[in-house]
Amino acid sequence: MSHTATRLATAAAMLALGAGTLAAQNAAAAAPPAAHADTACAACTDFYRFANQKWLDSTTIPAAYPSWGSFYELYERNQGVLRTILDAASANHAAAPGSTDAKLGAFYGTCMDSTAAETAGAAPIRPWLDRIAAASTPSQVQAVAASMRHDGMTALWSLGSTQDDKASTRVVASISQGGLGLPDRDYYLKTDSASVALRKDYVDHVSRVFQLLGETPAAAGAHAARVLAIETAMAGAQMTRVQQRDPNAIYHKLSMAELRALAPNVEWATWMRELRVPAVDSVIVRQPEFVRVAGGLLRTVPVADWKAYLRWHAADEAAPYLSKAWVNENFRFNSKLNGAKELLPRWKRCLESTDGSLGELLGQAYVQRTFTPEAKARALNIVRNLQAALHDRLGALSWMSDSTKRQAIGKLDAFMQKIGYPDRWRDYSGLPVQRRAFVLNVLAAQRFERDRQISKIGQPVDRAEWGMSPPTVNAYYNPALNEIVFPAGILQQPFFDPAADDATNYGGMGAVIGHEMTHGFDDEGRQYDAQGNLRDWWTAEDARLYNAQAERIRSQFAGYTAVDTLHLNGQLTSGENIADLGGLTIAYAALQKSMEGKPHEVINGYTPEQRFFLSWAHIWREQSRPEYARYLVTVDPHSPGRWRVNGPLANMPEFAQAFQCKAGDPMVRADADRVRIW
Ligand SMILES: [Zn+2]
Repeated sequence: MSHTATRLATAAAMLALGAGTLAAQNAAAAAPPAAHADTACAACTDFYRFANQKWLDSTTIPAAYPSWGSFYELYERNQGVLRTILDAASANHAAAPGSTDAKLGAFYGTCMDSTAAETAGAAPIRPWLDRIAAASTPSQVQAVAASMRHDGMTALWSLGSTQDDKASTRVVASISQGGLGLPDRDYYLKTDSASVALRKDYVDHVSRVFQLLGETPAAAGAHAARVLAIETAMAGAQMTRVQQRDPNAIYHKLSMAELRALAPNVEWATWMRELRVPAVDSVIVRQPEFVRVAGGLLRTVPVADWKAYLRWHAADEAAPYLSKAWVNENFRFNSKLNGAKELLPRWKRCLESTDGSLGELLGQAYVQRTFTPEAKARALNIVRNLQAALHDRLGALSWMSDSTKRQAIGKLDAFMQKIGYPDRWRDYSGLPVQRRAFVLNVLAAQRFERDRQISKIGQPVDRAEWGMSPPTVNAYYNPALNEIVFPAGILQQPFFDPAADDATNYGGMGAVIGHEMTHGFDDEGRQYDAQGNLRDWWTAEDARLYNAQAERIRSQFAGYTAVDTLHLNGQLTSGENIADLGGLTIAYAALQKSMEGKPHEVINGYTPEQRFFLSWAHIWREQSRPEYARYLVTVDPHSPGRWRVNGPLANMPEFAQAFQCKAGDPMVRADADRVRIW
């Protein structure tokens, strides 16, 4: 159901939610309002609104989008480049078989072929439906479920590979909770009227999908109710997103004997065989209780109900790539989750699918057109300046002991930086892309990716690999590799502009880089060492002082609302909020350093310090539909843009000073309440 699809390790901390799967339209002028007499007052009351007033008042969310803002606007520009590449590739009928053009052209071209999709209807997924229909025993149900997982479809749990958190040079087999059709366990378990209504809509949607498969309304309705019952039972055994933020709580290395004892009804040999897992003596089980309960359901739930569950997930996975009836029903329900008013144009959907499946093939052509070696050098320069600023600040911290400081600085010095695009591109030669029903190309790509992930088990860790494609407007820190990663897609305006002044770039890309660096030391990232091992390197007293500050961040953000009276989840968002505050603090220090001995030029009536904060406010401007805002509060570890601006700035004396805000102003936290970690 294409929610928060990410190929990153579970613990990797991104800059924004799924911004790489977004898109955008014309960029409204980013220029700040001209300075005038009551500027300071307005800036000190609600800085987000002060900086973005004109944009907020003049921007409406395009009908096909759940939300709109700087990330979407930039991704829209990137899409223009990608479309040119893909149009040329699909028009190049002379491309050599297996060449980049042939692969991109066939993938995108078969997606764009709406006539073929209409003609085929659901026929392309008939082999999956037939296999499900033929299953008559619990063993056969499991074999089909496991083979569906191999094709990237939802079925019970996710069996794959992961870097061993406690032996970071090794890749091991892992099992994670899964199996749901709705975006989160909360959607099944909450009892407020909106949640109850949405579950009713979900059952209705599943029922309509069964009817598209030819079932009578009565049978379809009954089957849909069984699907909800199975998924609700699984949801009740899932860990919450907040619980999963504790890396030790999701690290359980089980021997195969222990795994069999945990879930004796599961035929693990079948799962391992269908997913091509090599012989292993242990598996990391992220959520043992989930595996125990879901495994038990294999015994207690009738085969007929499991078949309905698998039929639903096979159809749901394929729906976005089939004929109009399927695409429209899929959109109709998803719009209840995100508020979008119309379907994205076909080319945008096809472009996103191509980026998702062949990201590093498309990415090669993209960086050739957009990302010069000079741009890479300039970005790297800012990264180094930020690293130096954080180094200085760590050394000068008054609350941290020397022994913890030494370890923190060692970790910072060991950061790996990835800028723009991979040094070595992924090899897609083993992935067949053909002129056939598009959904078959999508499933082949998912199978190819699953095989690639599984084949890492027992192999040394590939530290050069990327978790985002080059055109992605996003960035991440991965604690297991202790690396910060910035795709070419985000190293552009308004985040980074070689023609702009330093203050604007440091408040944009600089703070983004600082944000990713701080993730290495946020409440989750600080639990990993320089080599990416989950190992406690803090003294008890330093950890206590850190946690006291983190707790204040949690309670500050829990006080903010996202929509109506719905509050942010202070615990879910704490890592990102700490990263925003730290990133801004470090970037501000780096800006000061870069301006040493230079004139502090005033531009458009604003000092460099003021432009720094305006730049940060501009990149986070956004408008979201209420449905989407509610969805994000449940699933997104990031706070809404308004609070990513006002939340950290209210803690920063640097901000109050830049705009001459006074004690008692809404944008100035009282000393007793103020948080400063780095
Ligand atoms: Zn982040």
